[in-house]
Amino acid sequence: MSGAHLIDLRSDTVTKPTPAMRRAMAEAEVGDDVYGEDPTVNRLEQRAAEMVGKQAALFVPTGTMGNTIGIKVNTNHGEEVLCDDRAHILDWELSMTAWFSGCLVRAVPSADGVLRWRDIEPHLRASGPHNAPTSLVHLEHPHNMGGGTLYPLEEIDTICERAHERGVRVHMDGARLFNAVAASGLPASRIAANVDTVMFCLSKGLAAPVGSMLAGAPEAMERGRLYRKRLGGGMRQAGVLAAAGLIALEEMPKRLCEDHSNAKFLAEGLAKLPVVCIDPGKVVTNIVIFDMARSSLAPEQLTAEAQARGLLLAGVGGTRIRLVTHVDVTRADCERALEVLGSLLGG
Ligand SMILES: *Cc1c(COP(=O)(O)O)cnc(C)c1O
Repeated sequence: MSGAHLIDLRSDTVTKPTPAMRRAMAEAEVGDDVYGEDPTVNRLEQRAAEMVGKQAALFVPTGTMGNTIGIKVNTNHGEEVLCDDRAHILDWELSMTAWFSGCLVRAVPSADGVLRWRDIEPHLRASGPHNAPTSLVHLEHPHNMGGGTLYPLEEIDTICERAHERGVRVHMDGARLFNAVAASGLPASRIAANVDTVMFCLSKGLAAPVGSMLAGAPEAMERGRLYRKRLGGGMRQAGVLAAAGLIALEEMPKRLCEDHSNAKFLAEGLAKLPVVCIDPGKVVTNIVIFDMARSSLAPEQLTAEAQARGLLLAGVGGTRIRLVTHVDVTRADCERALEVLGSLLGG
């Protein structure tokens, strides 16, 4: 039995800072970052930029703010942003693209959240008497609601190349970019080589308590700094957070493959349950989404019953349930999670 130990598979955002992070936070050298004088934030921004192969980066409190600023620096009011129809910016960010950037989101149907150039091209709009021009293509990689799915590298490159030929920019929502790195074996700098801006979170699988990074060209990040201030994200002695972020960046990516193998283990176990619909072959990072439409239980009943047994899951709309593996979940926890789900879903 799990005793008092809760197995929390709702999200990798629940990860707590490691002991090394807490020590680094306590000892961080700090200054006023609004004046650009926090040495730890400056180091984190430099290191993050280097790792994703961009010239500059900006430390922001959340991924939502990183995407909001990323979209803002790549667009003008009244233009269109093209993304897939299950994008995080569309469903989970309070319409910030409309609210802050004044742009219309054009959502394009996709398979598992992954767009192809052939899906994108027919929806691009040129400026005209009736059209708002498309100025940005937005790619989510890995794709959260798609089940942690990945774009093939060639497709990212093709999309960037073709979009740029038309003067359209590309922003990557790489909230879990380092999961894509672990799954593909490609360096972050290669994955993001051709996008104009990339956002990734330190606060998810990398286990930092707070923070995300936006990276891109120096002029874009310069303007981004002002938008960050407007949004209330100009933090002062943020070095205490950046110190944890540096450890997240340097130490945590190398263990993400463990989370991926746990996710695969969960997916394979779930696939054996007759009422569960899932293709374990599609689970390549740390997100497992299954459909329980064939179960007599309602999704809310499943999550409540699982919680009563010490297992936390997230309903993600309709009859879909999401499990996310992370540093605070062991293989034994996953075995226990399968036992609980097996008993509830009539395994
Ligand atoms: C978590 C997440 C974000 C940002 O989330 P915050 O909670 O604002 O940090 C952005 N995009 C995707 C795909 C995410 O999963």
